[in-house]
Amino acid sequence: MSKLRFRVVETAFKKKPAQVEVPAERPSEYFAKYVFNKEKMFKYLPSKVYDKLVDAIDNGAPLDRSIANDVAAGMLKWATEMGATHYTHWFHPLTEGTAEKHDAFVDHDGKGGMLEDFSGKLLVQQEPDASSFPNGGIRNTFEARGYSAWDPSSPAFIVDDTLCIPTIFISYTGESLDYKAPLLKALRAVDKAAVDVCHYFNPEVKKVVAYLGWEQEYFLVDEGLYAARPDLLLTGRTLMGHESSKNQQLEDHYFGAIPTRVAAFMKDLEIEALKLGIPVKTRHNEVAPNQFELAPIFEECNLANDHNLLLMSLIRKVARTHGFRVLLHEKPFKGVNGSGKHNNWSLGTDTGVLLMAPGKTQEENLRFLTFVINTLMAVYKHNGLLKASISSATNAHRLGANEAPPAIISSFLGKQLSQVLQLLEESPKEELLNISGKQGMKMDIPQIPELLIDNTDRNRTSPFAFTGNRFEFRAVGSMANCASAMIALNAALADQLTQFKKDVDALIKKGEPKVSAILEILRQYVKICKPIHFDGNGYSNEWKEEAAKRGLDCETSVPVIYDNYLKEETIKMFESTGVMNKVELEARNEVKWETYTKKIQIEARVLGDLAMNHIVPIATQYQSDLIDNVYKMKELFPAEKAVKLSAKNLELIEQIADHTLYIEEHVATMIEARKEANQIESEREKAIVYHDKIALMLDEIRYHIDKLELIVDNQKWALPKYRELLFIR
Ligand code: ADP
Ligand code: MG
Repeated sequence: MSKLRFRVVETAFKKKPAQVEVPAERPSEYFAKYVFNKEKMFKYLPSKVYDKLVDAIDNGAPLDRSIANDVAAGMLKWATEMGATHYTHWFHPLTEGTAEKHDAFVDHDGKGGMLEDFSGKLLVQQEPDASSFPNGGIRNTFEARGYSAWDPSSPAFIVDDTLCIPTIFISYTGESLDYKAPLLKALRAVDKAAVDVCHYFNPEVKKVVAYLGWEQEYFLVDEGLYAARPDLLLTGRTLMGHESSKNQQLEDHYFGAIPTRVAAFMKDLEIEALKLGIPVKTRHNEVAPNQFELAPIFEECNLANDHNLLLMSLIRKVARTHGFRVLLHEKPFKGVNGSGKHNNWSLGTDTGVLLMAPGKTQEENLRFLTFVINTLMAVYKHNGLLKASISSATNAHRLGANEAPPAIISSFLGKQLSQVLQLLEESPKEELLNISGKQGMKMDIPQIPELLIDNTDRNRTSPFAFTGNRFEFRAVGSMANCASAMIALNAALADQLTQFKKDVDALIKKGEPKVSAILEILRQYVKICKPIHFDGNGYSNEWKEEAAKRGLDCETSVPVIYDNYLKEETIKMFESTGVMNKVELEARNEVKWETYTKKIQIEARVLGDLAMNHIVPIATQYQSDLIDNVYKMKELFPAEKAVKLSAKNLELIEQIADHTLYIEEHVATMIEARKEANQIESEREKAIVYHDKIALMLDEIRYHIDKLELIVDNQKWALPKYRELLFIR
């Protein structure tokens, strides 16, 4: 008899919320305590060094190598005062999460002793022995060297006893091997292209910054229950488990009162996040039971992304101190909502203007329309690529799979903005424009209410929704590195804005006044990118058909979706913006395909093991009990009565036999199919077979396991069930 499940369930119930030690100071006082921010730079660096460093941070000025030693010395002083003994280059390889290798701040002092040391050279560049990071063949083992280089635009911080220095990670031949290097390039590209376009409206603009405000969704599971689920432990999701009778039907979790034990965890997490300079602000229950969300105030995109990665490692750590495990997987449980990471994204200028927000004057609104329409054009042209940028084996369960919404990128604009675009498209030029000579900007573009933010109707089904002063890229997975989506989006917009400038300038050259040239090009664009605009229900089946008619990318197979990265127009876009070249794109796709295969491969192995040594033996044992009972009934009762009394049990015995037979046969078939697939040399082809064949088998086998869960004696079932995983908190 399985006592395990009851033991873990019992202990989970007995857990008391941990007491959170609330610091005596207020958040404003401990915010960024562990961050080497400007305040600390000012205190620990010579003033000339400080000025140069801040110039590099704020204006992207090239960093003078000669100051590296002084910066390192200042950092060392601060870090040792804070109790740090080690440092690490902290980077984002092409895996989930971050990488770090710690070195102590020590060196020989030449007199037989040790001294604390940290030089500029060590700050600026390191050579991690990184041959085992995914690189898609760029670095074969003979040329295994790669190096990490300091990114001064994201401040160093301390975790435990280690000073972490955000870095990019590139090969010796200069190709990016990480997410940060191309992200920084994409941000630079959109900065440059957007500044040029801003000059139509304000020649003073010198810098345009992309902002990112992520919303991190996650599940919490009691640690004991988690440990008793090998599938959660090894794959991050449940590969089996019948739906709980009560799920999210009553809609009683979303925005509900936060359970006490969870609230204690959240409080602790927020305190730790604030100390690391992550400006966390919002917390609430999400739609599914045991699902929650955390969101900070938006920040400059590169920093926001570093903060998200840091938060993902912090949340895991803090959860464990509260007896929870956090699940960042996009779909840990079948039948209830999955988790995403909405990427709220916008552009802002150094003159303090949010470019995706409507303004008070017509000129401001023309600028607003310029940026919104160019964004729509970029998303339209590269809708397949944007989908590829958020596609993964795990996010596929949230987008494109059976119960998930279709994997199609479209943009929701809301009633008001839709009307404005329609007017722009339909009004004859003369009606739309009323340009009187030299006044230039006097024109008659439709009024846009200032308070769009509060007025925008909400459409939760749209993967790319306009929400008043920003776009919300909602298709991003909860586990993902946001950089993947942000690289594609910002690079695509940079390319589009460059095209826009060319188009407008060409008209101006022909003698068209500036404003009317801008309006004319925007009007052409509105017509072209119309197919991307969809305000209806993105989850409906009709939309799938409609989207296909409109020519949007409707592919649902993740390995095939990745082909978008290697389309001619994609390569051209990434190369012309200087974000990535063909070699890098090809190498990264190799990594993507390989990762996809490995994920499904691990799931298939885990499911096979669990099926054969947890599920089938338990079901067979219970079946033997039933058989035993049938025989005993025969001894106790007259034959006819015994048959009648045992009818249900006989039925169950047969059902169990059918299900276990199916499972045994198909686990064997799945193993064979894997062996065959593993022979395939091309990573792309292999991933496709894993998608087309093996991923489907997982679902088929699961179906029979979930049926058995309903039949087999509850006391025998070893694995914690959905009702326990989802409702114990
Ligand atoms: P909701 O769930 O209603 O979308 P949240 O408050 O959970 O809203 O999250 C909104 C996120 O969007 C926050 O991170 C917020 O800082 C961010 N945000 C707000 N305005 C902008 C903007 N202009 N650009 C980028 N992010 C923004
Ligand atoms: Mg949101």
